[in-house]
Amino acid sequence: MLTPNLPFSLRAATHLRQRAWVEIDRAAISSNTWNLRRLLGPKSQLMAVVKADGYGHGALNAAEAAQAGGASGYGVATLNEGIQLREGGIKAPVLVLGSITQPEELRACQDWKLMPTVSTMREVLLCESLAKWNGRIMPVHIKIDTGMTRLGVNWEEGIRIVKVLKELNFIRTVGVYTHLAITDKSSTAKKFTQIQKQRFLAVLNGLSQYQIESVDRHLANSAGTLSDNNLYFDMTRVGLAIYGQVPQSSLMQVYALRPALHVRARITLIRQVPGGVGISYNHKYVTDRKSTIAVVSIGYGDGVPRLLSGKMEILFKGKRLPQVGSITMDQLMVDATNVEDLRVGSVVTLLGTSGNQQINAFDWSQKCNTIPWEILCGFKDRLPRLVLNSSN
Ligand SMILES: *Cc1c(COP(=O)(O)O)cnc(C)c1O
Repeated sequence: MLTPNLPFSLRAATHLRQRAWVEIDRAAISSNTWNLRRLLGPKSQLMAVVKADGYGHGALNAAEAAQAGGASGYGVATLNEGIQLREGGIKAPVLVLGSITQPEELRACQDWKLMPTVSTMREVLLCESLAKWNGRIMPVHIKIDTGMTRLGVNWEEGIRIVKVLKELNFIRTVGVYTHLAITDKSSTAKKFTQIQKQRFLAVLNGLSQYQIESVDRHLANSAGTLSDNNLYFDMTRVGLAIYGQVPQSSLMQVYALRPALHVRARITLIRQVPGGVGISYNHKYVTDRKSTIAVVSIGYGDGVPRLLSGKMEILFKGKRLPQVGSITMDQLMVDATNVEDLRVGSVVTLLGTSGNQQINAFDWSQKCNTIPWEILCGFKDRLPRLVLNSSN
């Protein structure tokens, strides 16, 4: 792996030795965060969600870049992800979005000053007894289930759990939140988001009588943040959008988001073949004319979904070359007929930006029937991360 601490010249040299890599543009994450902060206005904060190694961008890179863009805290999925941020020197509030079930995990949570999410009475009582044992107040966020049916206390019981919390001495409610189930744009779907908001409001109204002050109320993820400014509350939890990706193509142009991740690879071999020649495993593609076929040194073993076989394009100097035949574990082939300046060693772009051309995680996800989040999480450690615009 490349380490962000290397001086740039060394990093560049390391990248010259690579067959394929992921470029992480920290300035893009900062600028996306900044744009989203402006969209939220002065009343709402932005929690940068950096779980799953910052959606493949590197959790620390993402956290530092988002902070520079005005993020006020972080969301992670697991205890270990939170510890990783602390070990990397991150001081801002960190919320663990996943459930923490074991006392030892909670103890570590408190030692590292990470805030747990509590969803059940069992978790509330566990936090209270552990905090009491440690002799230290434990700040927590309460999760309300308003229709995602994953974590969170059922919204109809939300008030009851808050009431219990109010009577306990060592656990302190600093946040109340819920999570939207709908990320697509159909109108029935959007209606359900409004139902979730109403249920959340019902809990918050109930809360007001228990004088729980300075509690951060939050509901929106990227889809909510980009689609409706009535969902902002005190904070939004944004993952996908700070990385310059969008949940729906219709949102692509609107917010001046720049993709922060670019997947590049080198050409390793170029050959001429006549018409009628089968390419790659099982000859799923057969040339229909004399063709120039170039081999690109990246494959599904690096995280390029095999489902994209024959459906994707690569970018080279403003041109789009069609990928042909089955994508293999370490390599894939492209039709480079009439592309005069392509050479062995040339760098091509599979995902991200090259000149004025761009291919987004959303585009890939449509072609292989998944979602952009999964595409970003799919790049393997075998692909080194080349970090641009690092302050180190
Ligand atoms: C992952 C996650 C988010 C961020 O979602 P995006 O759609 O990537 O913005 C927000 N809240 C919770 C609870 C999450 O698990």
